[in-house]
Amino acid sequence: MRMPLKLMLDLGRYIRAQRRRGEKYFPLVLMLEPLHACNLACLGCGRIVEYKETIRDQMPLEEALGSAEEAGAPIISICGGEPLMYKHIVPLTKGLIGQRRHVQICTNALLLERFIRQVEPDPYLSFNIHLDGMRETHDRVVDRAGVFDTCVRAIKLLKERGYRVQTNSTIYRETSAEEIEQLIRMLGDLGVDGILVTPGYHYQVLNNDIFLKNGEMPYKFRQVRKLASHYKIMNTPVYLDYLVGDRDLLCSPWTTVTRNPQGWKGPCYLITNGHYKTFAQMHEATDWEFYRTKQDLRCKDCKLHSGFEGTVALEFGSNLKDSWRMVRHYLW
Ligand code: SF4
Repeated sequence: MRMPLKLMLDLGRYIRAQRRRGEKYFPLVLMLEPLHACNLACLGCGRIVEYKETIRDQMPLEEALGSAEEAGAPIISICGGEPLMYKHIVPLTKGLIGQRRHVQICTNALLLERFIRQVEPDPYLSFNIHLDGMRETHDRVVDRAGVFDTCVRAIKLLKERGYRVQTNSTIYRETSAEEIEQLIRMLGDLGVDGILVTPGYHYQVLNNDIFLKNGEMPYKFRQVRKLASHYKIMNTPVYLDYLVGDRDLLCSPWTTVTRNPQGWKGPCYLITNGHYKTFAQMHEATDWEFYRTKQDLRCKDCKLHSGFEGTVALEFGSNLKDSWRMVRHYLW
């Protein structure tokens, strides 16, 4: 299965409970960034530029655990920065599992061995290894030779030890459709449990020209859609239709909220209007309908999975054909 059954059931139960309470704008995923420091300096990373003045800040453990309670989302993606550099990463992971939240650790894999000596496999835990292409591309994107090989070794090690492993690959302008196919086939051979492939998103603080424009996405993602019936691609079929230009989707930025040492970042994972002290303040300050309808100029070339997969999740059940495609996709 591309997604653990327990996660799917928990997510469905949570969405139904929110709706019974009359909630419309509720989070499904908390992107928890307990620090922005990293042991790499990737070309496409906006965080190390946006937060360079506060790059040494680390969130106190109680604040990190408390933000998960505050948002209430069933899925917590611990990212950053490099989350395995966070000084409380072990108690944070164990604490979130103790809250019965599905924890995904988004990592470049460089510090993995030390971490897995302290945290056992758990049905609530998965790793999301960052891998943006085959050896030459990935090592260029992360600006360090040898990182691709470290990632491959880490994936093998995690699988041997019984952990759930997913990968997250960002597609840039220069990534060819042939390389995407090669990468997906290699990840399939390595036995990863899920493969997430997303278009690179242009952070407002970055000036480089490595990101895909809307018109460049269809060709590359048609290849991904073709491979989705044979490999464990986690992107939903509806989102893939959107990426290849076969349908339109509105955005649901409130489904993936971001908390970092500066506060609750709004309006979305990608763009920043401000940081708020509480989750409630961030909600009050954000005109969700404005961002849902992609009216902000900064939304122009954005097809970020966190905004649009949220829409797909919330619309599950409203269209029988799409819902059946989703069920078949995830049960495989
Ligand atoms: S379209 Fe992209 S930039 Fe705009 S609100 Fe959605 S996720 Fe954010």
